[in-house]
Amino acid sequence: MSINRSSYVFSKDRRFERERRVHYKCEECGTKTDLLGHHIISCYMARRNPVLIPRLIKKAENLMMLCEDCHEKADADQKEWTRDEIGIMAWALFGLDPKRVADAQWTTADEDKRKRQADRKRRKRKKKKARKK
Ligand SMILES: [Zn+2]
Repeated sequence: MSINRSSYVFSKDRRFERERRVHYKCEECGTKTDLLGHHIISCYMARRNPVLIPRLIKKAENLMMLCEDCHEKADADQKEWTRDEIGIMAWALFGLDPKRVADAQWTTADEDKRKRQADRKRRKRKKKKARKK
C-alpha cells in the first residue's frame, strides 16, 4: 500500500476550523501567538501501524493547536509513548480497539526508513520523466 505523504499535513481549512474551535489559543497554556498544528498521535508512529495508517492521520480529531513551547514539549513527550499508550490514545480519539492497535504488526523503524527512501526515489524518477516530455 502506498501512502500519500501530503495527507499527513493538515489542510488549511482543518487548521482554521480547529483554531476557531479552541478560540485561537494554545490548547495547553492559552498563549495566543505562534500557534502550530500538532499531531496528537505522530505521523511517524501512525505510519508504522497498519491499523492506524488508513484512518486516523488525516482526521481532525488528531489535531491540536499548540504554541511553539508546548509543541516542543508535546513532541518530546510523544517519543516516550509505548505501543499500549498509543493504543489507548487511538481508542480515546477514534474509538479504535486499543489492543488491536497495540498488537498490530508494526513496521520497524528501519523498514519505515527504507520504505521512505524508496518512495523518495520513485518520486524523483517521476519528476524526471515529467520533465522529459
Ligand atoms: Zn502553549
